[in-house]
Amino acid sequence: MNRKEHVLNAALLSIGLGYVLHPAGDVETFVTIVEVGVPVILGALFPDVDTAFGKHRKTLHNLPVLALFYVYPMQFGNLQYVWIGVLTHYALDMLGSKRGLALFYPYEEEFGAPFGVSVSSDRATVVTLAVTGVELVVAGLFVYREFVLASSLAAIGIQ
Ligand SMILES: [Zn+2]
Repeated sequence: MNRKEHVLNAALLSIGLGYVLHPAGDVETFVTIVEVGVPVILGALFPDVDTAFGKHRKTLHNLPVLALFYVYPMQFGNLQYVWIGVLTHYALDMLGSKRGLALFYPYEEEFGAPFGVSVSSDRATVVTLAVTGVELVVAGLFVYREFVLASSLAAIGIQ
């Protein structure tokens, strides 16, 4: 996908995550949207740096890069949530275009969904919105699962 779709996806995903994490729609929701939104949008823009440095859809579109952004905050205490932007960039590229990603780079085989639209398609925005919707459902299920688990542990007196 193009930069426009990646920013749209990351911004809507961040707004959705704000409401998934704090559904009240109050100040805490808004603060969460800002807290998550800036790093997620930056993360969503990062993989396409490989259009200038390296091989596009290979050098910065792979699982080792995602793992690096996932563990970086644990080691250094910053760049939280950037991995979400990188992950959603990969999802949009895989599900919303005809070409795959070299997920196991430097192994150069590209993996993608058996469907997708061309990056320049009129339907790119619709696909972007659909992918964002699916991502928010998945995020909601994760949060709900954590809530149920925490409630169950509390009910039996653990935590
Ligand atoms: Zn990309």
